[in-house]
Amino acid sequence: MREAPKGNRFRDTWGGTVRSERAGQEIRVAGWVHRRRDHGGLVFIDLRDRSGIVQLVFHPESAGGAFALAEALRPEHVVTVRGTVELREPANINPNLATGEIEIAVLDAEALAESDTPPFAIDEDTPVDETLRLRYRWLDLRRQGMLDAMLTRTLIVRTMREVLDRRDFLELETPILTRSTPEGARDFLVPSRMNPGSLYALPQSPQLFKQLFMMAGYERYYQVARCFRDEDLRADRQPEFTQLDVEMAFVEEDDVIELMEAVMGAVFAATDFGVPPTPWPRLSYDEAVARFGNDRPDTRFGLEIHDVGALVDGCDFKVFQGVLDGGGVVRALNAGPRELSRSELDGLNEVVQIHGAKAAAPIYVENGGWAGNLAKFFTAEQIAAVNAELEAKDGDLLLFVADQAKVAAASLGALRLHLGERFGLIPEGRHDALWITDFPMFERDESTPARPRWAALHHPFTAPRGDLDDPANVLSRAYDLVLDGVEIGGGSIRIHTPEVQQAVFEHLGLDGEEAQERFGFLLDALRFGAPPHGGIAMGIDRVAALISGRDSIRDVIAFPKTASGADPLTGAPSPVDPAQLRELGLRSAVEPPAAGS
Ligand code: ASP
Repeated sequence: MREAPKGNRFRDTWGGTVRSERAGQEIRVAGWVHRRRDHGGLVFIDLRDRSGIVQLVFHPESAGGAFALAEALRPEHVVTVRGTVELREPANINPNLATGEIEIAVLDAEALAESDTPPFAIDEDTPVDETLRLRYRWLDLRRQGMLDAMLTRTLIVRTMREVLDRRDFLELETPILTRSTPEGARDFLVPSRMNPGSLYALPQSPQLFKQLFMMAGYERYYQVARCFRDEDLRADRQPEFTQLDVEMAFVEEDDVIELMEAVMGAVFAATDFGVPPTPWPRLSYDEAVARFGNDRPDTRFGLEIHDVGALVDGCDFKVFQGVLDGGGVVRALNAGPRELSRSELDGLNEVVQIHGAKAAAPIYVENGGWAGNLAKFFTAEQIAAVNAELEAKDGDLLLFVADQAKVAAASLGALRLHLGERFGLIPEGRHDALWITDFPMFERDESTPARPRWAALHHPFTAPRGDLDDPANVLSRAYDLVLDGVEIGGGSIRIHTPEVQQAVFEHLGLDGEEAQERFGFLLDALRFGAPPHGGIAMGIDRVAALISGRDSIRDVIAFPKTASGADPLTGAPSPVDPAQLRELGLRSAVEPPAAGS
């Protein structure tokens, strides 16, 4: 707390801020009964407010009527008390509490509200069923863990604003009721009463509006923006989430990256999150996938992936040679000196099978060669060359995957993370930030096998680098920021001429008419002096979760949804009154659930 509250009838001091210097003073504090202890004639109450906890002591002789009140107080009742700050006896000092050297001897007290017995303990950080926590979220938010997460979140956003404000950014808002914007997910739709049959879409991001700000000449924009994507949920996804959305005019990749390093560097410094100083390393997409198996590498530990195809080409091992002859790859990682049981090695197969590989072939290094029955299929030179490539020593476990390049990368990438976790290879307290650049512009969308097509890997407004007529190889001017193996942000330099934008739409299968229908306003704006521009968006929920050390972003969002997109607190989403639907010109094709189900 930076300032004492303005004194009023409830309090003149934040309880959690009282220290021994105030001994002898009379103060007034207010808050919730955190804990209550009856000690033969004395009642002790830990009083909690947003600033922390302070101990109240009620003496039967000095507290007068307040003593009777103290006897009736129960956890989570709300009180205001006036009392004298007293130093605790040395034996009673609590070093775990910021206010542990003092207590407040109560002179008078007033009960302000009672509380039912909470469905879970507020004063402990014990695990509680998440649905129950969400159902009683206002109580869950009272617990220290959630308060800490909200304080961290506040600090993160405040720091972002401070840096951007210093750099002359304008904080501007964009519509929530808008038209579908293509970030590649499904839209949430909102019917329009005044335009029956027509619907708004909630923004998947403010992408097009922020580009229009650049075309309007507002050169530096940011927004702490809510985005909505109707996707299947996972631990790090929510149907609505918050991002720091940024756009700048007259910039190239280095400018956006430098700005974001300033913003995020300040965030990490403010939250004491030990990320190495900027500039952060940059890795091309191809290199990240080759060395780490994915485009959000966790670089906090080794076990890098190596391509050993050329080293084993010509071997007698049919599995490897067959894949190589079929245009595939043989890649491997050195897991180090790990003694794994047969069943654990089989478990590794399960890890790679999720990503489409058949198996991870294990080979142990022994006397400079390979142990086991695979060794006989390779020449001594091949074995020596692979060992040298993988810096293999006696006792090391080498794991091989032979498959198409994409499958081998994903499989070994997953295997690497699995081993990193299994053997605790990530050093305590180490955090790594890095940029991924040089993404492919397009990826093959095989979701409708009869009609494979090109899809934008970032989004269709990203500027290409290279020859657009070679969609399989053209790169994009996109960049992602990765923190500890999690993509926390991404952006790009944008297309700023109508011709290039039109050409990209064509590659994505949007013909001139459809492009005009959906994005006519953008194509128009590009014809009226659009400056070169680019930007980025940082996922604030993910950043907050990583900094707070939480596995789920639900733990850093005040009122999140469950994995099925429901809110146990309010009961959303819920059926609506048929009259409301009629007004919107809608009829439900789904029977509403029976009452009480
Ligand atoms: N609109 C993009 C997103 O939400 C970010 C950007 O390109 O600035 O992922």
